[in-house]
Amino acid sequence: MYMKQKKEQAEVVAPKVEPKVEKAETDDKEKKTGAKAPPELLRGFRDILPEEQGKWNLVRDRIRAIAEAYTFDRIDLPILERSDIFLRTLGKQTDVIEKEMYVFVDPSGKSVALRPEATASVARAYINHGMLDRPHPVKLWYEGPMFRHDRPQAGRYRQFNQVGFESIGASEPIVDAQLIVLGTQIFRDLGLDIQVQVNSIGTPACRQAYLAELVSYFRPHRNKLSEDDKRRLQKNPLRLLDSKEEGMKELLADAPQILDWLDDASKEHFTRVLEFLEEIQIPYVLNPYLVRGLDYYTHTVFEFVEKTTDPDRAQNALGGGGRYDGLIELMGGRPTPACGFALGMERIVKALGDQGINPPQRPQPNVFFAQLGDAARRVGLKLYEDFRQAGIPVAEAFGKNALKAQLEIANKLGVKLTIILGQKEVLDGTIIIRDMESGAQEIVDVNKIVGVVKRKLSSEEEVVKPIVRQSPVARD
Ligand code: AMP
Repeated sequence: MYMKQKKEQAEVVAPKVEPKVEKAETDDKEKKTGAKAPPELLRGFRDILPEEQGKWNLVRDRIRAIAEAYTFDRIDLPILERSDIFLRTLGKQTDVIEKEMYVFVDPSGKSVALRPEATASVARAYINHGMLDRPHPVKLWYEGPMFRHDRPQAGRYRQFNQVGFESIGASEPIVDAQLIVLGTQIFRDLGLDIQVQVNSIGTPACRQAYLAELVSYFRPHRNKLSEDDKRRLQKNPLRLLDSKEEGMKELLADAPQILDWLDDASKEHFTRVLEFLEEIQIPYVLNPYLVRGLDYYTHTVFEFVEKTTDPDRAQNALGGGGRYDGLIELMGGRPTPACGFALGMERIVKALGDQGINPPQRPQPNVFFAQLGDAARRVGLKLYEDFRQAGIPVAEAFGKNALKAQLEIANKLGVKLTIILGQKEVLDGTIIIRDMESGAQEIVDVNKIVGVVKRKLSSEEEVVKPIVRQSPVARD
């Protein structure tokens, strides 16, 4: 546990200590070879390259449309928060708090953390901004990076993006059900096949009685448990239910199930949620081992699990959440019921890619602008703005001078038209327009070029009256 900092300590200005800088692996290589090594990317962190952005845009756009359709309001929250926001709420014995939080003391001596999740931040914002006075439920959604110093592996990064939905201020089971519907619709909209898994972990009171039973069931089997599970048995026995360790499946099959320990109110709540799902025909699977990683959950918990045959991803949930009726009170607010869930964007994007869905990140330009000489560049820059204002994206290679090189790039980009501006055209007030498929070129009044291109693109058949017809051979 490296985060046992007392509250008062967090306020004290930390002594100036030189941060311990770990030697990069590249340092040794550099020493040996003398060559400058490429800069190192932190393990578990990644760049999202332009080639992937189409999928990200698709996911973001669809999710945003759904959020608006279900009348959720967007909230943006800071990435850095006081660490006690998470320490107080997520549960001391959870993996996130025990070993995954990026915690450090900032230059003013405060203990801060890169957020490992955003529900606690949403609850903080709800209290800070007096959202109690807003019409309830307060429905908020967010999107952004989260940080967990977990062991990097397939589908698990140290910085990853989540989108989340939180509905605060209503305890009715219909809220839980609608959130599950909303999540399901996101996956349907994206064309991803998922399974909804649900369970109830009741209230803290009925959970206490169940945990005592669970511990006495596992105690005689203690020597069969892994070191991790032994620790769980002692500190957070509920987590034994979703242990993936060898041999646990058999042990769990006979373990007491939490559903049998729910009090009447919890049973009633859960039954109503399931009835709503049946009513709206959202298929679900009861998973008695589903408990979720964080302490603040109550009643309904659920996960969206990808239906895949890939063993690397079979256990990876695309998202999950549940009810957290105690969280806002725990953070110092009035008792306020709430329910929500978060989806992992990297995993959704990966699932899209696996299905061959890979849209372009932006509309591909159909026009290339080739310029020859300084005068052409000067006119060209203004012309480029005219095209932009007309909503026509134009590719260019302003760094190149030779026409041949520019036409090669235009060909590579697969544009329909290239407009060519040379010294002579600048003097004449004209511009050449080249059909890249046929190679035919026309000379057009430069002031009319935007309109001509627009017409050519919108209707390929349309005849544009050329001033002069040129041979299809390009000049260099
Ligand atoms: P959690 O808050 O842990 O339930 O996470 C919600 C969702 O975020 C998960 O179902 C995953 O899709 C995603 N997620 C959680 N941790 C990671 C991680 N380390 N790397 C990538 N995605 C993650």
